Amino acid sequence: MGSPIAAELSNALSNTDHLTSNRQTSNGRNSGRLIVLTGPSGVGKGTLLQALLQRHPELKLSISATTRSPRTGEIDGVNYYFITRQQFDLMVSENEFIEWAEFANNCYGTPKRSVEEQLAAGEWVVLEIELEGARQVRQSFPEATRIFILPPSIQELESRIRGRGQDSDDAIDRRLQRAKAEIDAANEFDVQIINDEFNEALDRLEQTVFSATVVG
Ligand code: ADP
Ligand code: 5GP
Repeated sequence: MGSPIAAELSNALSNTDHLTSNRQTSNGRNSGRLIVLTGPSGVGKGTLLQALLQRHPELKLSISATTRSPRTGEIDGVNYYFITRQQFDLMVSENEFIEWAEFANNCYGTPKRSVEEQLAAGEWVVLEIELEGARQVRQSFPEATRIFILPPSIQELESRIRGRGQDSDDAIDRRLQRAKAEIDAANEFDVQIINDEFNEALDRLEQTVFSATVVG
């Protein structure tokens, strides 16, 4: 792992036995759950989720479709489904997304079929999406657990985006402008977590995901 927080991350991964996803309902059937993770680009959502999934491989991360170009190291079908604008528009017109939104000049959407199938099979599905999409999910899945990740400061957010070294100056400016509006909406979410000290934020995320009431 090339990230500067890799060592902390690997320590954090070893200490989790007390939390498990007990997905059995009282009648013995499995109950699906939808978890929505939102927060400004660069706040650390992807890094937190990667660590959470290592602790809890039973969680399913929904793979979004996007018209954005892959960053170095990103793999089609793993990080995103990288598709053209034409393909995206076709999916929108055929109602194939649970939600979708435009972000920093690109489109992003959550494919409906795979998420619905996983929920029906009793899986716990995590969506990592921006604010407009999270608002749409609130309408269609009001029972979803909705979590907002905050940066300790805008300066730190900017330094994380720049430190990631993957976006052009223009793309960074667009992300920072959008970040302020997103942060203002943090209170719309069930839980807010400040990603300052990584392990603390990861523990809170884990507790939040596994403490919410099971619906079903
Ligand atoms: P997002 O998915 O929200 O766009 P990333 O997960 O790509 O953000 O994280 C952006 C950068 O911030 C990465 O380089 C990551 O290693 C770093 N990062 C994440 N969490 C922390 C933290 N708590 N402290 C310092 N750097 C962090
Ligand atoms: P990035 O280009 O940095 O990978 O993602 C930009 C933003 O798009 C992030 O805030 C990310 O959470 C969001 N995003 C990723 N996939 C989806 C999606 O399927 N729907 C929506 N609405 N936003 C998404």
